[in-house]
Amino acid sequence: MMTVGASMQTRTKTLFVDGNWAEPDEGGSFTLIDPSTEAQMARVSLGSAADVDRAVGAARRAFATFGRSSVQYRSDLLTRISEVFTARSEELVSTLSMELGAPLTYAREFHVPHAGLHFKNARDVLTSYQWETAVGGALHVREPIGVCGLITAWNWPLMLITSKLAYAIAAGCTVVLKPSEYTPFSAILLMEVLEEAGVPPGVVNLVVGDGQSVGNAIAAHPDIDMVTFTGSTRAGVHVAQSAAPSVKRVHLELGGKSPNIILPDADLDLAIPKGVLRAFVNSGQACIAPTRMFVPRELSDRVAELAKQTAESIVTGAPGGDGVQLGPLINQAQFDRVQSYIESGIDEGATLVAGGLGRPSGLDRGYFVKPTVFADVAHEMRISQEEIFGPVLSIINYDTVEQAIEMANDSPYGLGAYVHSGDMARAREVATQLRAGRVYINLAASDTVNPFGGYEQSGNGRENGVHGFEEYLELKAILGYESNSNPEQ
Ligand code: NAD
Repeated sequence: MMTVGASMQTRTKTLFVDGNWAEPDEGGSFTLIDPSTEAQMARVSLGSAADVDRAVGAARRAFATFGRSSVQYRSDLLTRISEVFTARSEELVSTLSMELGAPLTYAREFHVPHAGLHFKNARDVLTSYQWETAVGGALHVREPIGVCGLITAWNWPLMLITSKLAYAIAAGCTVVLKPSEYTPFSAILLMEVLEEAGVPPGVVNLVVGDGQSVGNAIAAHPDIDMVTFTGSTRAGVHVAQSAAPSVKRVHLELGGKSPNIILPDADLDLAIPKGVLRAFVNSGQACIAPTRMFVPRELSDRVAELAKQTAESIVTGAPGGDGVQLGPLINQAQFDRVQSYIESGIDEGATLVAGGLGRPSGLDRGYFVKPTVFADVAHEMRISQEEIFGPVLSIINYDTVEQAIEMANDSPYGLGAYVHSGDMARAREVATQLRAGRVYINLAASDTVNPFGGYEQSGNGRENGVHGFEEYLELKAILGYESNSNPEQ
């Protein structure tokens, strides 16, 4: 394994197939840049379509046995994975923090423990799941769908993997995983966790690679039964297109531009600071971040003042720094993208309340961005319409609550939505009118139990709990299961 914090490391054995580490065939290599210093920090070998083929072969062979394993066996396996994951959590924390640039405290308190919870949650769903139901004289039976291709983004390097992997294992599926090329080391470490926990060879296989070759090969592979993807809507469309000829199941977790409606009776001293901090979680690199804040026009000055105070109180810095709340963005492309959105907000005439172009003072290297707040944002502006994926909040004024709901829903996305009110009945009423897969009332804590997924271009399918579990299952109806039961006789 790579030593974190040492000089540039090279990892060539990035292919984990049939329980063995190997060098990929011919995919080239990828250099990881330290997001805090912009120095080269590691190099990994990338796989190719040929490596995907090997991994799929191993997963297919393993499925013959694993797909028929008992619930007790898989439940025990998930318990062991969860235990090893917890025992090795400090290694996971330092590795994840290194490749993502996430503050160590945040990696320790949020990224890693939340990723680990999926193994326990999946086990709990598995042990209480009813696999068979008698309906009339027929039997409805659930079975694992087969070999699953998992393709994930870099922003929650472990959580995005475990929210799929844990449920695939629980279902009895076997897996070919391609993590983001920007965060391969936490995925490599996760394979070590699985090995140590006794996951049989071939059940989970890893191919480190880029989207064009490895991701695309997974999506298109005729012997993969399902592809589950988390990433941008742009790449998700490619995945669906590549998957179509083989008619596999496609599960997509894509982008977002979540609205946060502050109702007139909300306690602003509570709602605004919490809303700003929630928008900036993980340096704003969160698909479900509430990045469009809708506020009553008559309260806009007070809201802007509170948002400014909050944004300016945030400590940005390198992962190990004292009290650091926000780390850098992941890479140069993200930095440039976020800067261009800040520029577009200024050019389109929004009021810059906090932050702006360039790095925070005292940070002259690294992909650090100033926590930025725009007020008086028009609904049509790019900063209100498009996913920025950085710490940039757009505050939009409304005249009536109906207008706020209409603007909130007028988006190609539908991942999350938020409503804040002092009157629970009113908040609930608004929540029912928001078109999103998850609605948070009064900034309820995020969790790993309730369904997670999007409407419209935020994707299809759900993760977590029984809904996430059933994504990995096929349904078989056995007719004539009970004798004398054919209603047509
Ligand atoms: P991305 O789409 O560039 O990459 C995601 C993954 O897809 C990576 O592993 C990448 O290598 C791969 N990929 C890229 N092009 C591909 C192709 N043509 N075929 C197959 N695979 C391909 O996204 P990103 O920059 O890694 O992540 C940021 C995006 O992810 C944001 O849009 C964010 O909203 C979204 N996201 C969504 C959720 C969710 O649950 N809805 C969670 C986290 C992130």
